[in-house]
Amino acid sequence: MRKAVKGRLVSILVPVYNESPNIMEFYARITRVMNPSGYACELIFINDGSKDDTLDKLYGLREKDSRVKIIDLSRNFGKEIALTAGLDHCRGEAVIPIDADLQDPPEVILEMLSRWEEGYDVVYATRTRRDGESSVKKVTAHLFYRFIKKLTPIPIPKDTGDFRLMSRRVVNALTELREQHRFMKGLFSWVGFRQTSITYRREPRYAGKTKFNYWKLWNFAVEGITSFSFLPLQVATYAGFGISLFAIAFAAWLFLTTLIHGNPVPGYPSLMVAILFFGGVQLTTMGLIGEYVGRIYNESKRRPLYFVQDKAGWDDGRERPRLEGVQ
Ligand code: UDP
Ligand code: MG
Repeated sequence: MRKAVKGRLVSILVPVYNESPNIMEFYARITRVMNPSGYACELIFINDGSKDDTLDKLYGLREKDSRVKIIDLSRNFGKEIALTAGLDHCRGEAVIPIDADLQDPPEVILEMLSRWEEGYDVVYATRTRRDGESSVKKVTAHLFYRFIKKLTPIPIPKDTGDFRLMSRRVVNALTELREQHRFMKGLFSWVGFRQTSITYRREPRYAGKTKFNYWKLWNFAVEGITSFSFLPLQVATYAGFGISLFAIAFAAWLFLTTLIHGNPVPGYPSLMVAILFFGGVQLTTMGLIGEYVGRIYNESKRRPLYFVQDKAGWDDGRERPRLEGVQ
């Protein structure tokens, strides 16, 4: 067991996209937790192309507190990429991604830190309850976590978001994964190392609305499944195989009944059913293959994951950009 060494640097990564009404309260809560903790901290906000005054508020905070660092992405890249930018830039011995909307209570960080001091590399936080979210979201999330667990051999913990603590060596491992299609929860688990969990109650959003509508969530689920499982492709193989067997048996049966009873040419409905059924199966299967092919296409372009338009808090980054005519 490692001895508690206070003063170690902890990086808090906060992806923000139009979170203006939450920033001040978030900063107040997180500093209330970190200041007396005895740890040094850097508070890295990744501005993911916000269209409101989130960025102004962040620069305002940085003027008061140099622990606040800002990465301003060139556009909205999505939370997974924003987190990746944070992971690439942070320097802490322990790194904690957290949402800006206070759904993940900052107070839980202290418990994470004490488990980390015990020698764990990953301390993930599992939600026992999710307050303030619609029941459809809760049910679909519940089903998703169970479904993906069945589908992939990677142990992705259920009811666990991105809120977790990771040690430096886990973060170093993660930064080596440069794929375009990033299902972070899966990647966090994929790298391995010594993991443990704590539980917490997920609170309602402090202000504003969720950025994930059901269409986005559905795509997120498809991303998770295709990034970590070939099973859908295999299902197509087995379904095709099963249907072929059935077709052979059916052909044999037709042959025999024709021999015995002759052929009175019945069967328009059964023909239509068969045509539509196989048409459906084929299209679905092609669509499924398309999901994977599209991802191969995207990966093969090897584009950078994101562009940073400004940084504050790093020696190589500029401080607040002064644009002509813009206050
Ligand atoms: N977020 C982001 N980029 C996006 C969408 C969301 O950086 O394109 C951030 C958002 O500002 C918040 C976190 O990701 O800090 C979680 O988003 P949200 O609360 O909308 O998701 P939910 O909690 O509803 O799953
Ligand atoms: Mg949220």
